[in-house]
Amino acid sequence: MRRLIKNSTVNILHYIKYNVNNILEKNKNFFLILNYHQISDNFDPKFHSKGTWLDTAFFKRQLNAIIENFRIVPLIDGIEKIENGELTENIASLTFDDGDISIKNIIPLLKQYNIPATFFINSATFDGNAGLFHIYQYLNNSPEYRHLLNTDIQSNYPKLRYTKDKKLYNKYRYILDHIYNNINKKEPLFVEKGYLSSLDQNLFHIGLHGHEHQRFSMMNYDEQKINIIKNIEILSEFKSYKPIFALPFGRPDDWDNDTIKICFENDLHLLFANGGINFNREIGYKRAISVNLTLKDLIIKNYY
Ligand SMILES: [Zn+2]
Repeated sequence: MRRLIKNSTVNILHYIKYNVNNILEKNKNFFLILNYHQISDNFDPKFHSKGTWLDTAFFKRQLNAIIENFRIVPLIDGIEKIENGELTENIASLTFDDGDISIKNIIPLLKQYNIPATFFINSATFDGNAGLFHIYQYLNNSPEYRHLLNTDIQSNYPKLRYTKDKKLYNKYRYILDHIYNNINKKEPLFVEKGYLSSLDQNLFHIGLHGHEHQRFSMMNYDEQKINIIKNIEILSEFKSYKPIFALPFGRPDDWDNDTIKICFENDLHLLFANGGINFNREIGYKRAISVNLTLKDLIIKNYY
């Protein structure tokens, strides 16, 4: 595979490569699954989150280091290798969540270098919907809409990411949905269905991320089931669909036993957010959220 960038970054890459090799040589083969969200030249708080955004130049450097140290495979191929006990080398897969509009700038780059990727999509975004955290962030950073977030919403919003109180979560989920459905949406937050179906289906795969981008632990069994089945029904229309469910948010308090049960009943592979280094089959696979870290730091952070 050709290098993405040349001379100016050779020193950095040499450094990354040296350190990664030290880590890799000491351990048995593993499957590194990386998780991206928004990648763009400039940070815009309306669309991007501090914890998940990566700038394009840094992404290219990270990608180059991945290419140098791993064979990049489609996620479903990596999963099959692990499940069949055929992991004979270090492999990596790239995954992108939420169908963020910025992936339109990254896909041509991936295509140019023949790098496979899997995109986890909330099918409700095709109808102009968004998850509550995307909604709040968009409204809060839009001068024309900020006034719609009253003091009650503002004071309760910070609790919603980690609360175990379903009532509280769902109260504000529906309030924010209602506000968002009633504004005049001029700026798309997510890629559209037609765009996704136009992609090279061998290189770019589509997976599940819930019909809506919500914390599944905040729904009861039936609500979760309806949500996942709807997501499957809509996304399985894509020729590039793969039965893999990336749990929205993906941390332990964001899903429950019902979520796992529904996934197993529907023969779905599961992806979590914490970790990124996979040696063998567990309940699901771990992903590393790829923030502003060198490949070395990313691996160390998720390995130890
Ligand atoms: Zn997500």
